[in-house]
Amino acid sequence: MEKIISYENLTKLVDGIIQSGHIAIGQDEKGINWKRLNDAKELKINYASVPSNLSYKEFLFTKTEPVFYFRNNKDNFNLIEPKPEINENSKIVFLGAKPCDSRSIEIMSKVFNWDYKDKFFNQRAVQSIVIGTACNYQDEFCFCTSVGLSPVSEKGSDIFLVPLDDKNFAVKIISEKGKEFIAPYLNLLADENISLDKIIVGIKAPEKKFDTAKVKEWVTNNFEHKIFDDAGATCLSCGQCAFACPVCHCFDIVDEECDYTCGRRMKNWDACQFGLFTLHGSGHNPRETHGKRYRQRVAHKFKYYHDKFDEILCTGCGRCSRGCPAGIDIACVVTNINTVANQA
Ligand code: SF4
Ligand code: SF4
Repeated sequence: MEKIISYENLTKLVDGIIQSGHIAIGQDEKGINWKRLNDAKELKINYASVPSNLSYKEFLFTKTEPVFYFRNNKDNFNLIEPKPEINENSKIVFLGAKPCDSRSIEIMSKVFNWDYKDKFFNQRAVQSIVIGTACNYQDEFCFCTSVGLSPVSEKGSDIFLVPLDDKNFAVKIISEKGKEFIAPYLNLLADENISLDKIIVGIKAPEKKFDTAKVKEWVTNNFEHKIFDDAGATCLSCGQCAFACPVCHCFDIVDEECDYTCGRRMKNWDACQFGLFTLHGSGHNPRETHGKRYRQRVAHKFKYYHDKFDEILCTGCGRCSRGCPAGIDIACVVTNINTVANQA
């Protein structure tokens, strides 16, 4: 016996979330972006469509936010904490995240709790509930199975939905957080005599394209290689790949003064594909070419992050490749590395 929920009852769940003062985050009408839902009718569970252009990371790691404000006059200097924009008792509920999105919070938590604990990210992560869904979509850019995930991976989800048809989902409660969250809404779930394991086995997964261990070993031993120059040759340094990525997390810190007596310190998204990213005050830039910057993108994801945190910094969503205006496909680059590694 499995628990199921109808689409109609899912919208009632969203109503309950909104009425309780929590924040429901879902995809917009066209499935392009994630947004705060103001009405349960806006709910879209796009389990059979292409992943949204952007991930939902901006609700945890915001595009721009104040770290503190400051005021000074000749007698005093004051630092002022920003007011949290979300009530600390409110949950942030992500509805309908595919496995390549659901996993992102755990992966990013590693870097935001390393040498410095980022209270902004952590507060939102603690408040988050991820209602993930199995994914019934794949195209040439998807490669979740190459990075340890799959269309039915429950990793990162607190509650996991498995689509049964257009109107019903099987419901799996994955975490204690999910169990606690769903408790007031159990009346929306029904019992159904189905074999969930058989349904899950029937969901097709993308073919595995490369072996991350082999790629890491090759990148470690081939810091200078033409592959990176070739990959970066057409890069426009637009940064789309980093901004769309569910786990890219580079940021810049900028002090903005309103005059000599007040100002604020801002934390803003940044991207290692930008030419200015590593430009030193001296004028020297250790990554002055697109090839060196693309090498950084690949090495950070498949070597450095793994060295440091035992995690691949990629969920195989394919967003960076689908959206790249220069047609650079990270899965093709990394598959090419795997091929070259096999020939060595
Ligand atoms: S999206 Fe493509 S063109 Fe833009 S920075 Fe990334 S790799 Fe370069
Ligand atoms: S690197 Fe590309 S494929 Fe991997 S998680 Fe980021 S956007 Fe998705």
